[in-house]
Amino acid sequence: MTNFVSTFHQLGVTAALDMGGFALDQEHCGVLITSAASDDCRILYANANFIVMTGFAEHEIIGHNCRFLQKDDRDHAALAEVRRAIRDEIPVCVELRNYRKDGSMFWCGLSITPFRNALGEVTHFIGTQTNLDAQKEVQRMQQRMQQSMQRGMQQPHINYDADNHAEFTLPTETGQREWFTDIVQSETPCFLVLIDIDQASSASTSTLFGSRERELIQRAIAQRLRDCIGESHRIAQFSTGRFAALLRTTRQQDVSHLCEKIQQAVQNAFSIVNQTFHATCSIGIAQYPNDATTIDGLLNCARLALRQTQVESHNHVLFYSSDMQLQEQHRQALEAALRSAISNNELQMVYQPQVNLTTGTITCIEALARWFHPQLGEIAPACFIALAEEIDLIDSIGTWIFERVCRDLIDRRQQHLPSLPVAVNISPLQLRSPTLIETVAALISTAAIESSALILEITEAVLMDDDAVSQRTLLTLQEMGIALTLDDFGTRYSSLNHLKHLRFSNVKIDGSFISNVVDNPADAAMVKTIISMAHTLGLKVIAEGVETDAQCAFLRDNMCDEIQGFLFSQPLATGALNALLREGATLPTRLREPIKPRRTLLLVDDEVNIVAALKRLLRRDDYLILTAHSGIEGLEVLKTNPVDVILSDQRMPGMTGVEFLSIAKKDYPETIRLVLSGYTELQSVTDAVNEGAIYKFLTKPWDDAKLRGHIREAFERKELVDVNFQLARDVYVANLKLATANRQLEELVGEKQQQITRDANSLQVVRDALQQVPLPVIAVDDTGMIAFVNDAAAQLLHRRGCLLAGDARDVLPEIITLLPLPINASALPHISIDGKLFQPRTSAMGTQSQSRGYLITLAPVTGTIPSSSVESAT
Ligand code: C2E
Ligand code: CA
Ligand code: CA
Repeated sequence: MTNFVSTFHQLGVTAALDMGGFALDQEHCGVLITSAASDDCRILYANANFIVMTGFAEHEIIGHNCRFLQKDDRDHAALAEVRRAIRDEIPVCVELRNYRKDGSMFWCGLSITPFRNALGEVTHFIGTQTNLDAQKEVQRMQQRMQQSMQRGMQQPHINYDADNHAEFTLPTETGQREWFTDIVQSETPCFLVLIDIDQASSASTSTLFGSRERELIQRAIAQRLRDCIGESHRIAQFSTGRFAALLRTTRQQDVSHLCEKIQQAVQNAFSIVNQTFHATCSIGIAQYPNDATTIDGLLNCARLALRQTQVESHNHVLFYSSDMQLQEQHRQALEAALRSAISNNELQMVYQPQVNLTTGTITCIEALARWFHPQLGEIAPACFIALAEEIDLIDSIGTWIFERVCRDLIDRRQQHLPSLPVAVNISPLQLRSPTLIETVAALISTAAIESSALILEITEAVLMDDDAVSQRTLLTLQEMGIALTLDDFGTRYSSLNHLKHLRFSNVKIDGSFISNVVDNPADAAMVKTIISMAHTLGLKVIAEGVETDAQCAFLRDNMCDEIQGFLFSQPLATGALNALLREGATLPTRLREPIKPRRTLLLVDDEVNIVAALKRLLRRDDYLILTAHSGIEGLEVLKTNPVDVILSDQRMPGMTGVEFLSIAKKDYPETIRLVLSGYTELQSVTDAVNEGAIYKFLTKPWDDAKLRGHIREAFERKELVDVNFQLARDVYVANLKLATANRQLEELVGEKQQQITRDANSLQVVRDALQQVPLPVIAVDDTGMIAFVNDAAAQLLHRRGCLLAGDARDVLPEIITLLPLPINASALPHISIDGKLFQPRTSAMGTQSQSRGYLITLAPVTGTIPSSSVESAT
């Protein structure tokens, strides 16, 4: 910059710059000064930006005519205009095609101002140039989007940041096309790698980043990509978050390796102005000449591969394959069909009940969308909702769903069916829509339903999303009285703490955890943790996808509040739902209350006659006796039967008794386990006893009476454990209620606190206002204490004793002795204070507020003292 300014001074053109409306800090522009004296308009000065923009070194610029910037591309109307302006010595602004040193073309906005000396002669021309590529690119993409929309094709949403581009050194798509032309000419094979930064769009609406930060993120990403690609390959930026690299190689594994490097580079956190930004990227790859021989064909293939990565899941790399073309055609057909699904009446709603695990009653129904395609049949919502999101149709489908849900609600009301709240699924994209609130509010009012009749289910993804509109929408919905359920909980790694902040009321545990909750200890632990954490936060927990008695029992034993799933009911069409509601269906009792089963004993021994003998011996004690002939078999029995006591042989083929009981201890810790063995191997027995796997070790041959005594004792012990468990459960439930009450109390206290602050503020305003009143004003509370005096009253009465908090009877005995006073008693006698006469007026407080007492004003009376007046006591 110093160099730039001093050169200007040397040339004496700073004034001209000012006159021409230039600012010296136009950092984004390339600035050139040429001589006008020489016929050839030689360049005398070029700023650093000009050098960066064009890639030429200073010595290749200074002293030359500008025409090297156009190479041979000189047949240009704009160039003729420039020549004319220079000849006529007038300012000019044009758009030109210029070329960098590497041969890549860029669009340049050029303005030229002639500089005149004191004699009025033009001595120099000052030219500023800006890179218009971004702008041109937007125009081209807009045209392409229009064309493809006419063809019914969807294009990715593209967002340009022209300022960033003007300064940005990565070439654009145009540059890419030219490199490609070179490649075709040299007949070198290559790969086109299309890179999409998955979080680019979320950063663009994030509450964390301003436009400057977003620009910095873009540049930081571009920089890292270029570093990965290196010098031997080419990379260009097509739009915000989208890059394309041309890799000159024949080896697919080189490309894969490089893509891994790119993914890693993008995944490393970005620190932008003390904020951290995390990103991932998806990559689609096409190969020249195998996949296509033109740049457009190649781009198309890479785009298809990229789209496929995004359908599957983000953060993936895919090479183009010919079946993608078929998938794309299928997708396009589906897209066209979805666009007319509403008008063709192909969408429907089904409803799935949620039931309470304690009462067994239906508490809510979830609305689920269905699409019946005339040829393809039923299409799953997971598929068409995602497609609707992709093609910007989710808002209109979402509105249709709300309308239908409200209509069905009214219909059930008219049929006098129980009025149950309906849970409606909302896609995170709908939540970003600024019109969602309006739509919901309008529907509620048109249908005349309570806002509590709707519950909105929002997936966990929303917790990770710091989008400002979504968060405001969530709060507004909650303020409108609409309860929120966090759906699919557990599938992302978000924290339940967010729930408190966003005021969710319910959590739905994702079905994927429930399907294996009985067999998979990790899922079981996860579900238990979610339930207990959610309860601590005062939230209700619903488990979805419950299909079996065993899953239901697990959830009930672990204090889940409600379940939803095929076990109770499939999603139902309105007719079937209404029938279910009419008959008052509830969860079968066996699934609700733990039935006290008969005392159950499991006997495990590989010797059949021992099992038979034990069975005979213990039959008279009225146990339910189950048997198994190996440890493995014993574990199978345990899987499907609730067992209280296990009596196992020690020496069995495959698995010893102690080994079997150790597993039983881990998976069924509530069982009481005994070994009955003719063989005593001290070490394993003492280990098992010490680890707690075995309650007692009994030996064969046994004494009948003693053995029966041991078994009875084991059952008594089990019952003690059960009672303890029940007690712990009762304590837990009580704590849970306490946590919910606490949460409500916290909210109540918060509201009260706000009310107090508001009251205090308005009281202060009233006090201030009363101070301004010229009449003496005195407030007396219902105990006779002076609660307030304004300045006028203080001046008048200060000699009568302590005013504020003093006894009104001492200060104004003339009036207070007449208590209770007639309201607005204009007939009160005048009183005289310090020789002046006053007419007291009183009014009772508390008609419009919670205060009690009187407000007294003293109005001065002019004229003679009437006989009824009371003389001052002082
Ligand atoms: P979701 O919200 O998690 O819905 C639960 C899914 O589990 C539903 O699938 C339901 O039919 C299914 N389901 C219920 N009980 C069982 C069970 O016992 N076992 C199994 N395996 N599945 C069960 P569906 O109807 O196919 O919906 C799939 C997803 O599509 C939903 O997941 C939701 O994310 C989305 N979706 C459905 N309807 C709508 C809608 O109206 N709007 C929006 N935005 N999304 C919807
Ligand atoms: Ca749901
Ligand atoms: Ca789910």
